[in-house]
Formats: sequence, C-alpha cells, structure tokens
Amino acid sequence: MEDSYRQQGKRKLLVELVREKGIKDEKVLQAINEIPRHLFMDSSFEDHAYQDKAFPIAAGQTISQPFTVAFQTELLQVERGDLILEVGTGSGYQAAVLCELGAKVYTIERQQKLYKKTKNFLQKLGYRPKFMSFGDGYKGLPEYAPFDKIIVTAGAPFIPKPLMSQLKIGGRLVIPVGEDPQIMTLLKRTSAKSFQKETFGEFRFVPLLEDKN
Ligand code: SAH
Repeated sequence: MEDSYRQQGKRKLLVELVREKGIKDEKVLQAINEIPRHLFMDSSFEDHAYQDKAFPIAAGQTISQPFTVAFQTELLQVERGDLILEVGTGSGYQAAVLCELGAKVYTIERQQKLYKKTKNFLQKLGYRPKFMSFGDGYKGLPEYAPFDKIIVTAGAPFIPKPLMSQLKIGGRLVIPVGEDPQIMTLLKRTSAKSFQKETFGEFRFVPLLEDKN
C-alpha cells in the first residue's frame, strides 16, 4: 500500500483547500494530512482521492467529501480517549480520522460486504477501532454506551431515540437530518432529560437505512 511523495503533496493541497473552506481545528487538518485517502478507494479512482468530493465505494455507498468529514469531526470536538460511536462505517475513512485523533472508536455498518472489507482494510493500514459492528445503527450500541460523542455519517430522516439515550451528559451527537438535502445538526446533552440543538446548513449524504443487509 503505497503513499508516494506525489500523493502526499496532493494531500497537502487538499488540507489547504479544506482550511480555506472554513475548518479551523488544526488537529482535524493534521489528521487529514496524515491519512492516505487514496487507499480507501479502488486504485482505478485514485486520482479522485485528493479532490474535495464524495466518491462511490463498494455496495452503492460513498466515501464522504473531505470537507464534510472535517466539518463533522470539528463539531464533535474530539479529545484523546473519548469514546466515540460512528454510525455508517463505509470506507472507514471517518473512523480512521477519529482514531488518528486518539479516540476510542466504535463503528457500525449495516452492509455485511462493506463491514468485512473495511474491517480487514483498517487493520492492514494500522488503524484499530475498539469495536467494529455489523448491525443497524438506528439502534446504536447499547452494550458499550454511554458515549462521549456520536457521529452519524448517513442522512437520517429523524434523530433515532436510542442514539440520544446512549449519549453521556455533556456529550455531543452530530447527525445530518432530513431527506435531501440534510441539515447538519448538533445535539448537546445538557442533562438526563434535556438536549440543546444547533444547526449548520445543508449537506448531502446517502440515506440511513433500517436493518442490516
Ligand atoms: N463514514 C463513511 C461514510 C460512508 S456513507 C466513510 O467515511 O466512508 C454511509 C454509510 O452508512 C454506508 O456505508 C451505509 O451502508 C451505512 N449505513 C446506512 N444506514 C445504516 C444503518 N442503519 N446502520 C449502519 N450503517 C448504515
């Protein structure tokens, strides 16, 4: 798995582009700089890896746009040692970003083919999420809850209740909500029963689907 000077150079340009688009968290920018995004795609599409675009991966899914990954990650305010649940493992790129930031990552994917492929791939690359699960992200992972942060990387028609209840008090849930487009939403849990909501404009994701496949 090669990461050439040419690819590293392109990645630096991508980081600058993402910075210009408004991402300020240096740790997030540094993570993007570190991770060889081209390895998360089929080699025939490698040239697209360092454009700021979403791209098709296996099983009709996409690897999110780098700016979107950076935006959601910045909203999470990741700290080393945070327990973070990700819904929608996909290519594993977002999970790698969270690992790079020192989080303990739990991630769920509903498509078995992708789950297997990505589990194998992240291991090869040296990223070690705490737990990778083949299952339905609407349900979260009650056996490992509560989480400091939760990130949903597919468009959710509504905010699933189980995810809200699996969030620590003081925790943050970042989720794109709606049909098409989605509104990026941050939910902060302020007490056992109360949440504060903020929204951050339109984004486009593949849909969060129920049940595993
Ligand atoms: N985080 C990924 C983005 C992948 S796109 C990345 O960095 O590449 C969204 C992913 O969510 C797809 O792989 C899709 O299969 C998955 N998904 C959709 N509905 C889901 C659900 N209910 N539970 C878990 N994963 C789901």
